[in-house]
Amino acid sequence: MTITGQSLIGATSVFGTQGAFHGVDARTGVALEPAFGGATQDDLERACALTDAAFDTFRETPLDTRARFLETIGEQIMAIGDALIERCMAETGLPRARLEGERARTVGQLRLFANVLRHGDFVDARIDPAQPDRKPMPRVDLRLRNVAIGPVAVFGASNFPLAFSVAGGDTASALAAGCPVIVKAHGAHPGTSELVGRAIQKAVQHCALPEGVFSLVFDSGLSMGQALVADARIKAVGFTGSRAGGVALMKIANARAEPVPVYAEMSSINPVVLLPHALTTRGATIAQQFAASLTLGAGQFCTNPGLVLAVDGDALRAFERAAADALAQSPASTMLTPGIHANYAKGVERLATHVDVEQLARGKTGGPFDAQAALFATPSQAFLADPALREEVFGPASLIVRCGDLDALHGVLKALEGQLTVAVHLHDDDRAACRALLPTLERKAGRILANGFGTGVEVGHAMVHGGPFPATSDARTTSVGSRAIERFLRPVSYQDLPDDLLPDALRDANPLALARRIDGTLHCEEHQDD
Ligand code: NAP
Repeated sequence: MTITGQSLIGATSVFGTQGAFHGVDARTGVALEPAFGGATQDDLERACALTDAAFDTFRETPLDTRARFLETIGEQIMAIGDALIERCMAETGLPRARLEGERARTVGQLRLFANVLRHGDFVDARIDPAQPDRKPMPRVDLRLRNVAIGPVAVFGASNFPLAFSVAGGDTASALAAGCPVIVKAHGAHPGTSELVGRAIQKAVQHCALPEGVFSLVFDSGLSMGQALVADARIKAVGFTGSRAGGVALMKIANARAEPVPVYAEMSSINPVVLLPHALTTRGATIAQQFAASLTLGAGQFCTNPGLVLAVDGDALRAFERAAADALAQSPASTMLTPGIHANYAKGVERLATHVDVEQLARGKTGGPFDAQAALFATPSQAFLADPALREEVFGPASLIVRCGDLDALHGVLKALEGQLTVAVHLHDDDRAACRALLPTLERKAGRILANGFGTGVEVGHAMVHGGPFPATSDARTTSVGSRAIERFLRPVSYQDLPDDLLPDALRDANPLALARRIDGTLHCEEHQDD
């Protein structure tokens, strides 16, 4: 498959004339061919018109057709073969094994949502049958199902060029919900984006779906992405990236005549709490695991452990030495873009020069855009006094907060903003201390882990990859796992509609064989397991 630099507008492709830009080799900073044309206002208008025209047909496609569509996207992605991995390695600096794993995860997510569609529980069909004889008033017949919210704009992430990008979790869950998608390609991996976009375009054609189900636009600046969010035909936005970017798009969506939800996943420092007995009994082992988690993927994970909280004392100092030794040995690795590398360097410099912060370790140096790991420590009083110390430094840097006692540690947790994850390392004798922290952990984070690290996000039914602001813009949802579909659904009630006017999901004969809640009780039909 050839990369052309064209935006994909429905079934067609066009080289945008609103400026041009290149992908960049992450290791060298050298421009990669070809040039990508920035989409114009006219290109965007056509994509939005097509998406709007496709919506009513696409949202009522049979569930099995939509499931096959998602599976076909996965097949088409695999059919690109090694060209996808090679282009992605060049654009992101990520190693082959990581990207092959990420491709498998991307295809796995598409299959997961195909299964969600075949089971049909997401429809949440409910029937409260009429009670004509109810006294003092008869009860109406009331039936509810979830419907697709409308066309969705997706902004992919730089750090997961496959699993959180063009065919990533936002796109998969929106398409599963029945929402056409327009993706604004991430400038950090345009070639990868085009290859995957063309795979989706082919899948639309193979499955004989309306062409407006999917478009992909390249933006040579920020204006087309912003215009997309402002367009009245877009009814929701999925975003993964920086806090500044997410908040900018939320403001645009809120300022519209019809405000729409922006599901933005933005910024998290993922505290790791080391409880006293765990620290005493296996501090050195935890230090090794911590260093491995911190440096994984050059620290460019949204669940990267950017903050460690522990009670100060001999055991913590031994942990610090062990972690510092491990990090000093850790090789430098290439960051996703020269810009992300420059931001990382700035963030590390800010910590290194802070009057109340002690530098404990730096990792090995490497190429011009390689991240050198960094570990710092500060007393809890200083941490509480300066909000800048709570800001995310995206990359392999972490700050240890030395607390006077467990109450002080609890106070630091209470002062934190919302997080994607909080990890607690505990020994059996730490149970009481852990129990005391749990209500605060639940207030702060979307996922609470015991004796592990947040890096490595399982894609399943019970996963929450979300959390209170600024981890995300809406703590009620997740961007990973089957519940991600709920972001792109809304409930509709049908009161006293004749059976033949009702959607199949709610008709008396239950032709879709859905599990339905009748008068509050769940009635399940037999499902073939996949
Ligand atoms: P980003 O700069 O926020 O970019 C994300 C996407 O949004 C890109 O497509 C970008 O366009 C677009 N965008 C950003 N600001 C915009 C604005 N004001 N108006 C319109 N569009 C806008 O994020 P990134 O480059 O992927 O990563 C940088 C930072 O994001 C990292 O340093 C890290 O802090 C954070 N991050 C967080 C997570 C997480 O899961 N929490 C994941 C990845 C990154 P362009 O392509 O044109 O720049």
